[in-house]
Amino acid sequence: MSKIKIQNINFSNYSMVEFLKIFESRIDKEEKTFVVTANPEIVEYANKEHNYYETLSKADYITPDGIGVVIASKILKRPLKERVAGYDLMSELLNIAEMKGKKVYLLGAKDGTLEKTYQNIKKKFPELNIVGRHHGYIDISDEELVQSIVELQPDLIFVALGFPKQEYWIERHIDKFQKGLFMGVGGSFDVWAGEVKRAPEVWIKLNLEWLYRLIKQPTRFKRMLVLPQFLFKVMLKRK
Ligand code: UDP
Repeated sequence: MSKIKIQNINFSNYSMVEFLKIFESRIDKEEKTFVVTANPEIVEYANKEHNYYETLSKADYITPDGIGVVIASKILKRPLKERVAGYDLMSELLNIAEMKGKKVYLLGAKDGTLEKTYQNIKKKFPELNIVGRHHGYIDISDEELVQSIVELQPDLIFVALGFPKQEYWIERHIDKFQKGLFMGVGGSFDVWAGEVKRAPEVWIKLNLEWLYRLIKQPTRFKRMLVLPQFLFKVMLKRK
């Protein structure tokens, strides 16, 4: 498998199309799959928190979510093919799930947000089989909830608890399932619900989605300072 290490994290070096082919085939074969969509914040956090680092090392695939990771790979002269944003990957997987009649479970976000997410996904993918959903304000050791999900035998489980909680939840419970592609999707349900807007296409094309988010959600400013720090460390490493 093609992997590129950036700040100790092993990214899978595939394009969106390649990832989709791999995931579709694994879903068909009912191979359990743990996907992490890692942005610079996740990489930095994993380098600080050993437990989280260990959790990420159990993922089958880590996708480069965020242009910062792609820039870092170029600085290190081991370029990743492209950015694979978590929200986009989720949309494509929902499309595949609808076409193939696969079962989807949605876990995460606040109750109202989840409800809007559910409705909006149903609007876009009317034939999609969403077998269940639950808000994300849970204890990660809630076994009753896990059992209720296991019984539904979903093929795709989207976990929107934010990092690190979503990856901890997946790591802790994935063994109880017979099958399923598990993916942490951070704030994606907020976007599905229409509560957070994604940048217009041109901004995304120009790799300026981070700037758009900064303008729209200035409260994230402190969190976003991680990006220059992350790139600075990568540059130091290159020298
Ligand atoms: N969230 C949740 N349970 C929690 C904490 C957060 O379901 O215990 C949800 C929150 O409502 C939001 C998402 O997780 O929908 C986190 O979004 P954020 O943008 O902070 O995540 P990131 O993309 O940074 O991982």
